[in-house]
Amino acid sequence: MDFQKLKSLAGSRAGSGIDLNRGSKAEAERLVSAGRVDDDASFELKLRPTKLSEFIGQTKAKEQLAIALEAAKSRGEALDHVLLFGPPGLGKTTLATIISNELGVGFQQTSGPALQIQGDLTAILTNIRDRQVLFLDEIHRLQPVLEEKLYTALEDYKLDIMIGQGPAARTHVMEIKPFTFVAATTRPGLLSSPLRSRFGILLRLEFYTDDELRFVVERSAEVLGVPIDQDGAAEIAMRSRGTPRIANRLLRRVRDYAQVRASGKIDRETAQKALELLEVDAHGFDELDRRLLRTIIEKYDGGPVGLNTLAAALAEEQDALEEVYEPFLIQIGFLDRTPRGRVATRLAYEHLGIEMPRKLSLF
Ligand code: ADP
Repeated sequence: MDFQKLKSLAGSRAGSGIDLNRGSKAEAERLVSAGRVDDDASFELKLRPTKLSEFIGQTKAKEQLAIALEAAKSRGEALDHVLLFGPPGLGKTTLATIISNELGVGFQQTSGPALQIQGDLTAILTNIRDRQVLFLDEIHRLQPVLEEKLYTALEDYKLDIMIGQGPAARTHVMEIKPFTFVAATTRPGLLSSPLRSRFGILLRLEFYTDDELRFVVERSAEVLGVPIDQDGAAEIAMRSRGTPRIANRLLRRVRDYAQVRASGKIDRETAQKALELLEVDAHGFDELDRRLLRTIIEKYDGGPVGLNTLAAALAEEQDALEEVYEPFLIQIGFLDRTPRGRVATRLAYEHLGIEMPRKLSLF
């Protein structure tokens, strides 16, 4: 196949859709987006670790969870409610499924934006099976009335149901089965404190190191039956922005390249050539990251520039900037989030080959 065709296919497939509110249209088209795009779904299912021992990295969160799981199992009780938080693509959904596997209980998944009316939540809660896991993704997008309805369910496994209408309406308290509520969010700061206080176990997921991501790539290559050597895996890991979802997506694209343009095996040279063609640079930056940094530097003298001004200049949504683009740029020290706005750092100037003005470099 013509590789240009392959490349545009990669772009258009990725652009076919993104989880509701996970990012903007432009975000959905990025090869290095941490958000989930449609054609990731079937691969993610295949590549998802099913046991805690297969889950790479996140040592602190894993240990905290292992202890809680063991204690709940030995007491024969439902596990405390769990809040998973951190940037997209780091394994929150994966951990939720692992919790249900490790407990040997049922698993049901929904999300904040998917629950529109009280009836949706009531139907889910009244059908809960004993000790099962109910996973709610993007909990920060749950409507406030539904959030309040959750409180008694989470605390006492009880549900207030209205029967009838008008003056004859009665509230009926219904018992529901004990269950484990696992919620995930990229924006823990948006949760109300009454909601946060309902969770007994809080697990923060961090960006992965290059070594951890290399293991993720090697494991995924094994599952997919793709021959890869250590250097090839390291090259993909390095450009994956600390995010397993991106590592897996880049692996698939590099596999296509290796099949079409090389022997089929992924070594360093093949990975480098494929990723150069896909315009993913050594830091995993693509055109959008470069545009973001360049805009701060060239239009706003390096910053500080407010988030809304920056979003307008880039024709991007504020949420997408804050949830998906910025965390990694901040993590690797290219961007600072100050009370007066976003600031490009010396590393950003160096990376783009732009000289930092003397007055800025004195700070
Ligand atoms: P999130 O819910 O945080 O957006 P997911 O749990 O959907 O992220 O993870 C995205 C993909 O990355 C999963 O399909 C899984 O294959 C992979 N993944 C995430 N974390 C790990 C990990 N620790 N080890 C191996 N693979 C992982």
